[in-house]
Amino acid sequence: MTYTVTMIPGDGIGPELADATVTVLEATGLEFDWQRVDAGESQIARHGTPLPEHVLDSIRSTRVALKGPITTPIGEGFRSVNVTLRQALDLYANLRPARSMKGVATRYEDVDLIIVRENTEDLYAGIEHRVGRDAAESIKIITRAASERICRFAFEYALANGRHKVTAVHKANIMKLSDGLFLESCRNVAAQYEGRIEFEDRIIDNMCMQLVQKPELYDVLVLPNLYGDIVSDLAAGLVGGLGVAPGANIGDQAAVFEPVHGSAPKYAGQDVANPTALILSGALMLRHLGETATAERVENAVREVIAEGRTVPRDLGGSAGTRAFGVAVAERVAAVATQRT
Ligand code: NAD
Repeated sequence: MTYTVTMIPGDGIGPELADATVTVLEATGLEFDWQRVDAGESQIARHGTPLPEHVLDSIRSTRVALKGPITTPIGEGFRSVNVTLRQALDLYANLRPARSMKGVATRYEDVDLIIVRENTEDLYAGIEHRVGRDAAESIKIITRAASERICRFAFEYALANGRHKVTAVHKANIMKLSDGLFLESCRNVAAQYEGRIEFEDRIIDNMCMQLVQKPELYDVLVLPNLYGDIVSDLAAGLVGGLGVAPGANIGDQAAVFEPVHGSAPKYAGQDVANPTALILSGALMLRHLGETATAERVENAVREVIAEGRTVPRDLGGSAGTRAFGVAVAERVAAVATQRT
């Protein structure tokens, strides 16, 4: 069987990471037909937009994409390609696992968190305007439908993956209507899973403090868009930083797999960035395609190569370049495949 996958290398360090990831995924022995399409800064001059329609069309037809990071100008220019893509394809669930890795020096050894972030509304609905010269207003949209949908996703993920607790994170004490509705929706969904998956809620500020003090107390977190964005970087920091944090944007019709990190323009083209987050995003893609054993093989290969300490990317304290790390992981993946056949 050949898997047809849309590949969007992205901006900055994206193309180098994509090459390393393709090397690893092809070493699994699975067949891929990569439909490469470009989005991002480089496309503005050619298409007048960083997200040409044919990119969306490709994902609509393949239903699965692997994507590098894309630069978003701050305060001016185009709307974020990432946000537009998630909204256009209704990729409502942003899944960001954060798990400790042997060989990666961090404060904790036993972090294993799943961040489930609502991906389509909240302050990311993009409804903001200036009020006169000296004020601006952003509108926070929270709906029952989107809140119940994301909470159900979190509980179903927990059930399917042997997790035991879902924590809803909010600021309903202050935003009584918007975050209040998110919490009420989560409580309604949680009632349907009573006795199977534990449920609790935490206020976002307290949650941040708890995560840096006692991350082992938490399992699956479900959050509205903005808190989810921030807390997933916090969780990435607990397990070694952005270089090792994978992600997935999942909807009913399509799924896009991408690292949590951005395009790190200062490292572009230098073969120094860590491809782990995109490789692990590729492993999440394999799970999504039903290739669970192969996904585990890729994840274990990444962990083993880092733990052995010979070929370690620079952000984790080693000196391996992007390409060399990709090749080392690919060789490990291929070696395990050979042992099994
Ligand atoms: P960033 O993630 O690019 O960089 C933050 C820090 O982490 C930098 O020090 C960077 O060098 C380092 N870093 C990130 N990825 C790394 C890797 N793989 N290996 C080693 N070090 C790595 O965040 P930023 O600087 O805030 O954003 C840069 C651009 O990326 C912005 O235009 C932003 O909008 C965009 N961005 C895109 C996405 C996405 O495509 N999903 C996500 C976040 C940011």
